[in-house]
Amino acid sequence: MNTYQNYDTIIIGGGPAGSTAATLIAEKGYRVLLLERYAEPTFKIGESLIPATYWTFKRLGMLDKLRASHFPQKFSVQFFTRTGKATNPFYFFDTNPHESAVTWQVLRSEFDQMLLDNAAEKGVEVRRGISVRKVLFEGEKAIGVVAQGRPPRDGNNNLETIHGTVIVDSTGQRSLIGRQLDLNTIEPNLKKASLFTHYEGGHRDEGIDEGATLILHTKDKDSWFWSIPLPYNRTSIGVVGELDYLLQNRREPDGKLNAQKIFDEELQKCQPLKQRLEGAKQLYPIQTTKDFSYRASRIAGENWVLIGDAFGFLDPVYSTGLFLALKSGEMAADAIIEAFRENDFSETRLGSFGQTFVNGMEAFRKLVYAFYTKEFSFARFLSEYPQHLGGIVDILSGDVYRRDVTHIFPAMSKVCYFPPEVPLGSATQ
Ligand SMILES: Cc1cc2nc3c(=O)[nH]c(=O)nc-3n(C[C@H](O)[C@H](O)[C@H](O)COP(=O)(O)OP(=O)(O)OC[C@H]3O[C@@H](n4cnc5c(N)ncnc54)[C@H](O)[C@@H]3O)c2cc1C
Repeated sequence: MNTYQNYDTIIIGGGPAGSTAATLIAEKGYRVLLLERYAEPTFKIGESLIPATYWTFKRLGMLDKLRASHFPQKFSVQFFTRTGKATNPFYFFDTNPHESAVTWQVLRSEFDQMLLDNAAEKGVEVRRGISVRKVLFEGEKAIGVVAQGRPPRDGNNNLETIHGTVIVDSTGQRSLIGRQLDLNTIEPNLKKASLFTHYEGGHRDEGIDEGATLILHTKDKDSWFWSIPLPYNRTSIGVVGELDYLLQNRREPDGKLNAQKIFDEELQKCQPLKQRLEGAKQLYPIQTTKDFSYRASRIAGENWVLIGDAFGFLDPVYSTGLFLALKSGEMAADAIIEAFRENDFSETRLGSFGQTFVNGMEAFRKLVYAFYTKEFSFARFLSEYPQHLGGIVDILSGDVYRRDVTHIFPAMSKVCYFPPEVPLGSATQ
């Protein structure tokens, strides 16, 4: 095993959360190493941005790059009821007459690479094809990582120990530190699964609706589809439902899963989407993921921080994952820079952004529970409480840190049950 040098910050994982934190810390002159396990850009799910990402992109210097990209512009999200009726689109500019009301639908292989290139331009040492096996601790204090290049060389396991003052876990759902320290709690009421692929061709709306995300219920409201327009005339299509409904209870007599068959059966129950996909070509075999919602009980410890999906993952219905990844990356970077200034890498200092971050996540979480309440519909809710349209559009836009959106929940809780949130703890609790 080789032992290498000391970095100010080691970022584990080169997704949007990791690139964001790395860029902002390196910009302040600190020595930042980012390790990404894949040697090349890869297919990833999670392709729809929400408008509030604008502010993090601005700090990262990414706006011009995104404007110059071929990613479709997204002005709205539109829901379809179980009867196939299209409800009025939620246009983000309705509550926010600013250029930040327009966002993008991204191909993740290209988008994640753009963020990594930007990080490298801003001084981050980016190493691809390096997988972190574990985080090293001395007592409670994180002191470095054991990393492995692949493929291992003959007779050499290709392991290296790298030391860093702050270790940031941005490994996504791999959740390296969360698993190592057993921090994660699954949301018992949001055990979902998802099947997805890309199509080429098919029918899209025109004008500013062309780039919209569509969320379509199937006819019994047992599942829902997303439709996200992408470059190259592609559309990302996926279906989400209860794990038992979508996968566990649908096994073939031999116990195997036929993902294509399940996907086709669900599509059959979603006529508006089926019509849009007429003549379109499915590009990949159906992929499956069990996207349980979960969250860690701590966001930081002595010399370590969790960001993005490594801290928590919320159901994909409102496309909040990328925003939360970027936002937590940004908030963690500010906390880490402050920690270096004060020479204080305690849990309190590094996790100082935690409760604010969780409060924003909580607004999304409540709206997720509303979506899965069979008796709830946005159209019905808004006909009774038209004054809450702004609050809903603010949440769908991601404006949960800049505006108070909590005023919509007392009325919503008359129809929906919101389970208590997991409190944010610390090592001493
Ligand atoms: C079905 C589904 C649909 C979704 N749709 C949307 C959507 O439309 N919009 C949206 O905003 N979000 C969506 N999401 C969520 C979104 O994909 C994630 O929230 C987002 O990718 C989180 O970013 P991240 O940087 O935290 O993690 P990731 O993007 O997962 O990045 C983590 C990185 O760490 C690397 N890594 C992992 N382990 C190691 C290791 N040991 N060593 C080194 N590197 C490692 C991985 O290779 C990866 O590149 C969806 C999620 C699911 C499951």
